[in-house]
Amino acid sequence: MAVVVMKFGGTSVANIERIRNAAKHVKREVEAGNSVAVVVSAMAGTTNQLVEWVREASPMHDAREYDAVVATGEQVTAGLLAIVLQGLGISARSWQGWQIPITTSQAHGSARIEAIDGSEILQRFEHGEVAVVTGFQGREPERNRIATLGRGGSDTSAVAVAIALKADLCDIYTDVEGIYTTDPRVVSKARRLNKIAYEEMLEMASLGSKVLQTRSVELAMVHGMRTRVLSSFADPESQQPVRAGMNDYDVGTIVCDEDEILEAQVVSGIAYAKDEAKVTILGVADKPGVAASVFGPLADAAIDVDMIVQNLSSDGMRTDMTFTVQATQLDKALAVINQARGTIDFEEIKSSADVVKVSVIGIGMRSHAGVAAKMFKALSEKNINILAITTSEIKISVLIDSAYAELAVRTLHSVYGLDDD
Ligand code: ASP
Ligand code: MG
Repeated sequence: MAVVVMKFGGTSVANIERIRNAAKHVKREVEAGNSVAVVVSAMAGTTNQLVEWVREASPMHDAREYDAVVATGEQVTAGLLAIVLQGLGISARSWQGWQIPITTSQAHGSARIEAIDGSEILQRFEHGEVAVVTGFQGREPERNRIATLGRGGSDTSAVAVAIALKADLCDIYTDVEGIYTTDPRVVSKARRLNKIAYEEMLEMASLGSKVLQTRSVELAMVHGMRTRVLSSFADPESQQPVRAGMNDYDVGTIVCDEDEILEAQVVSGIAYAKDEAKVTILGVADKPGVAASVFGPLADAAIDVDMIVQNLSSDGMRTDMTFTVQATQLDKALAVINQARGTIDFEEIKSSADVVKVSVIGIGMRSHAGVAAKMFKALSEKNINILAITTSEIKISVLIDSAYAELAVRTLHSVYGLDDD
């Protein structure tokens, strides 16, 4: 028998029929003898609607009241799922964050989970009761207020609840069948991965594959909580239930420790992010302290800088500097640089949002040479110009013109042997 946490995302509980379908997945696990805690999101679209209402009520709204409003979406689904489960003859009870309690920090709208008291849920497991827990929220003890975790936060709730209950597996039910080698909408030969290492998933998540909230992956990695991504739309009855000690499943992708992945690929996936923008500062004085004068004010303005390239100056006097920011922060970044013009000392500033960052990711890179060279060669053969490069131990990212995004992703997917054929 296993302890299982099952999380259902917004599209998986979008209406009563889908909630009934989610309940069938829960029933299968209960009938297999497992102890089950379910974590739910709000019905698809609900949180957006709630956020919109808050903004309409006042653009300068109070953060505590924002949380009071947006946390309600999950309360609805938790209650509805408990009702449907009871209708199936399963003993079930809904739990809001404050009832457990899930204790959070005070940062309303982006609170962090600090502690979860799983004792009552565990006690009720003894009597076969299913706990249906609201995702996305907890209680901040200082002011005794509901706090929400930030958009997509119910993934993090699910992993945190799984850790608190020492679950065997944290199952994240969503509208895709798992994690793919790349976006299947771009590359029809994309394959579902059976397993992916925490670190690889972290890179994928932060690079714009929106399947899991980045923070949930961090949490899973730190605590070694095996987390599976799978589709709620697959037939609930034919699927195998979770078993304690079982490592391999037919469906979904398990995010796990790299030691579990026996034959790691050098490259496991190709990710791309379209929300980057490029800023080039031309004719910057080439002297000590100039990088600090550029990136200091950007940091002070809370602008995240991703890639940075500084050219060599031909005359030893002036150089060009290119960096990328989130496209939504481009205007702000340009304003900050222009304001600091006096201290930076530059000739001209240019920018473009027509760029994408394409990344190859794989833990196997640590032990293999030539991965980057292969990437650069493949792109050059397609005449794709590289505007900037960054690397980490398990990732190489290049910035290219957005017109070439799909060609680059398809080319790299095939070059690294990821095509399904
Ligand atoms: N309902 C929240 C949102 O839409 C939390 C979640 O679904 O993860 O962001
Ligand atoms: Mg989500």
